[in-house]
Amino acid sequence: MMAHALLGWHSLSGMGKKKRVAPTAECALCRKTKVLVDSHLVARGFLKRMPDAMTFTTHAASATSRQTKDFVLCRPCDQRLATCGENYVISQCADFRGPRIKFPLLVNALQRLPAIAQMTWGHFEGTEMGIPTELLGHFALGMIWRGGIRSWPTPIAPFKTVKLDLGEWEERLRRYLIGDDPFPMDVCVWAMLATDQDSQRSCNFPSPSTDSGIFGVSTLGISFKVWLGNVPPDIKQCCCVTAPEKPIYISNRQHEQRKADKDLEDRRGAQKLTAT
Ligand SMILES: [Zn+2]
Repeated sequence: MMAHALLGWHSLSGMGKKKRVAPTAECALCRKTKVLVDSHLVARGFLKRMPDAMTFTTHAASATSRQTKDFVLCRPCDQRLATCGENYVISQCADFRGPRIKFPLLVNALQRLPAIAQMTWGHFEGTEMGIPTELLGHFALGMIWRGGIRSWPTPIAPFKTVKLDLGEWEERLRRYLIGDDPFPMDVCVWAMLATDQDSQRSCNFPSPSTDSGIFGVSTLGISFKVWLGNVPPDIKQCCCVTAPEKPIYISNRQHEQRKADKDLEDRRGAQKLTAT
């Protein structure tokens, strides 16, 4: 059984510093033969916002802040994914450094829409707030694509992330991410900000939904649900990139995050029983 694609970060310190030799091979994004860099599945910038970290997989928990990374992209492509979305999401997600939690995108939204602070569910218009939602879309699709091109080794050898089955979308997303195609109109990226600390303290690897063609990923309080093809019209209206208002949702996701954590704990418990 593969390691479940779930990562939660909790208490710990220290960064892995082991240097690996960069190979020359085909870059997964531009398809050119280049010197590859040690690319991260979940960017280092997220981890830095959680000074204490622990990685969880289905099979094990490890007191480590080492990251899930591999030689997959050339430097320009790695930089492209960073500048086209990743850096923005990193700058806006929950940040646990310092005496108080910072979460710029959520704070910005709640300041403008104070009524939402009392709600467990709401949404605001990205256009009205001047939020560059196309960066959110590029990041979300970039994460799903990265989750689909391979199984990524986790810090807990020999476990790897689940390789997402993207079918034709692996190539379609690649063409969008490299800039050859515009944002695919038959895709929906649903962006949500979590008001609960359980979600704000967690990152989940890209993972499949129980329904085919739907995937999820979340990073420190900003989560995404992605529909690839066959998007129902009512769902399409929720897309933060193509819907006219570019909506972004706000929700208390504690229940969902705790369920995900409990599922993980249950699997780990089952694994221990099997092992003994
Ligand atoms: Zn490249």
